[in-house]
Amino acid sequence: MLENHPFIPIVDWGFGGSRPFTISGPCSAESEKQLIETALEVSKIKSVNLLRAGAWKPRTRPGAFTGKGEVALEWLSKAKELTGLPVTTEVAYPAHIESALKYGIDVLWIGARTSVNPFMVQELAEALKGIDIPVMIKNPVNPDLELWIGAIERIAQTGIRRIAAIHRGFSSYENSVYRNKPNWEIPLELRRSLPGISMICDPSHICGSTEPLSYISQFALDLNYDGLMLESHIDPGSALSDARQQLHPADLKKLIDNLILRSLEVNDVIQLSKLEDLRDEIDEVDDTIIKTLAHRMAIARNIGEYKSLNNITILQPERWDEIIRSRTRSGVEKDLTMSFLLKLYNLIHEESILQQTKMMNNKNAGGELNSKKAIQND
Ligand code: PEP
Ligand code: MN
Repeated sequence: MLENHPFIPIVDWGFGGSRPFTISGPCSAESEKQLIETALEVSKIKSVNLLRAGAWKPRTRPGAFTGKGEVALEWLSKAKELTGLPVTTEVAYPAHIESALKYGIDVLWIGARTSVNPFMVQELAEALKGIDIPVMIKNPVNPDLELWIGAIERIAQTGIRRIAAIHRGFSSYENSVYRNKPNWEIPLELRRSLPGISMICDPSHICGSTEPLSYISQFALDLNYDGLMLESHIDPGSALSDARQQLHPADLKKLIDNLILRSLEVNDVIQLSKLEDLRDEIDEVDDTIIKTLAHRMAIARNIGEYKSLNNITILQPERWDEIIRSRTRSGVEKDLTMSFLLKLYNLIHEESILQQTKMMNNKNAGGELNSKKAIQND
């Protein structure tokens, strides 16, 4: 549908910069002082091309800091004047676009909680008709490629050609080391569907904390992303939103200085992203295994307590036979081998007995009972 809509690469938007086009600044503009101090530090990093700050913050629960609104745009335009950096902010309503234009905001971005909603994106598109301002469109919160493409198409239909996609990860119920799972396959498929679109990675919202930021930033560059959006704050610990994921400008500089620019062949990129998605899945499964085992042992301790109170022996062979029979049957049906299942269940059983015995020992004065005795007593 967008075949005749050549996107203008982000490095040709008129703000200079080269790959990786780098966007940084605080999650939220909190005060004039916080924004200006952050902007001055960030602007010393030569490779930063665009200053970001949220004026209206979409918060999950009411009562959280929702941004300072229009006055924050005044601070942003002051920061622009002081640093010479162009500035960008998030818009969610047509009125936000109007304010942004009033204060000379150079680039708009549509957030993940807006791109998820076609009604809202269409309203923004109507408000943008006839206005030539660059727009960056974050992926919707849920992993829905079509919805992301649809949001981009709606904005592109206004005639705007300076459009970029921002990959900020996808929310998920599964346990993950990430705040928002990267699902690398989705942004890569987006890039394949919309040739020429500039892809920006937002490691801050993917990670939710600062530790994995450099890994994700480097990974995005290795997948040939065009740019990065990294949140920075003059005093991250005191930030009113997303405190854990913001970098002090000095740490931002270190991260950027350590990035290596290399490009991979298209096939390598696809393979690498598939591998990474699978590794993320393994991480989640391992986390579930550990939590499930810990849960099982906690139940075993409760049983130990019950047995101790009621003077019941720890090892009850019929129960154990039944466990082994049913678990191995179910495991073999799921393509696990009998020898693995037997080893696994023996280990689990051993640990359960140990935990139950510890519990009983604690219940018995002086801890006279030990596991061997308990089993022998059976
Ligand atoms: C942000 O960039 O601070 C933000 C609110 O992002 P997202 O829409 O990705 O949650
Ligand atoms: Mn944020």
